[in-house]
Amino acid sequence: MKNFSLDKIVRKNIQLLTAYTSARSEFSGEASVFLDANENNLAADYNRYPDPLQVKLKAAIGRLKGISGENIFIGNGSDEAIDLLIRLVCVPATDNIIVCSPTYGMYQVAAQLNDVQVKDVWLNEHFQLNVPGILAAIDACTKIIFICSPNNPTGNLIDVADIETLLFYFDGLVVVDEAYIDFTTQASWNKRILEYPNLVVLQTLSKAWGLAGLRVGMAYASTTIIQLLNKIKPPYNIAGVTQQLALDHLSGNNELASWIDIIITQKNHLITQLNAFPVIEKIYPSDANFVLAKVISANDLYHYLKTEGIIVRNRSSQPLCTGCLRITIGTAEENKRLLTAIKNYPQ
Ligand SMILES: *Cc1c(COP(=O)(O)O)cnc(C)c1O
Repeated sequence: MKNFSLDKIVRKNIQLLTAYTSARSEFSGEASVFLDANENNLAADYNRYPDPLQVKLKAAIGRLKGISGENIFIGNGSDEAIDLLIRLVCVPATDNIIVCSPTYGMYQVAAQLNDVQVKDVWLNEHFQLNVPGILAAIDACTKIIFICSPNNPTGNLIDVADIETLLFYFDGLVVVDEAYIDFTTQASWNKRILEYPNLVVLQTLSKAWGLAGLRVGMAYASTTIIQLLNKIKPPYNIAGVTQQLALDHLSGNNELASWIDIIITQKNHLITQLNAFPVIEKIYPSDANFVLAKVISANDLYHYLKTEGIIVRNRSSQPLCTGCLRITIGTAEENKRLLTAIKNYPQ
């Protein structure tokens, strides 16, 4: 951050780009006759293009999070924000990003799709950042460091002081992906976007909010970064029905807190029970809605569970995850089925 300047890292072609101005973004006053967008005015319900900037949805999310709408970008899932951030600052075949495996796979996929090199500085044995390793890996072409906290698939929060160090020393973007933040009591990094102009925080409605089918993800950052994301996003990236349904769920959801309570209680129960089985070597502590389990012969247990109709995520080929399965916390009933199946596992 010491010498951070967006002008220096935003791709030149994007700085020079004249954004597409859609009919709905050009006119934003009150009117009753809309002849500007070639819609079918004979039809009803879905005949209008949606609000390209999702103003109402951002206001609702902003109220909930204590963030101004100008500091919020909404993507078609946070995966869209990941892709746009890479395209915003990384010149294909030249620039690179840093990821810290084992972690969420989309950072790497989005980078490779954009012909952007990936430097992987593995987490240490405590699943925390290797800060000296990351600082050593940064070169003049490093544009983004992706950090996932709580981390997927390990489940732990990443130390605040380590992220502060990277924010301070790195002159590119530090993206903190908080897909699982609702399951922790730790303050979101989104409280600190005004303090760090190079900080971008990602959240999603796909996990605790239970809306994975809607595809709504948020990025919080400085107004300048948000304006740039708006400039390069597909004009109508969030469907009108999606915006409306997300709004309805944000205002009408009284279940979120109790869901989180139930999931955490179920998680603690599951950890205790799983630990009693000889096939389980270790359950890593988790601040998320899943646990990472180190087991004896992960592939065998994975396939056995599959034959029992139970699908978990086999992470055993990931760095530092030899022998590991990632298990999402299900309903009480589903968790019981999992426990019964493992109890009957023929070894
Ligand atoms: C699930 C997940 C996401 C995906 O979010 P969408 O909003 O559904 O695209 C992002 N980051 C991490 C770490 C996840 O585990």
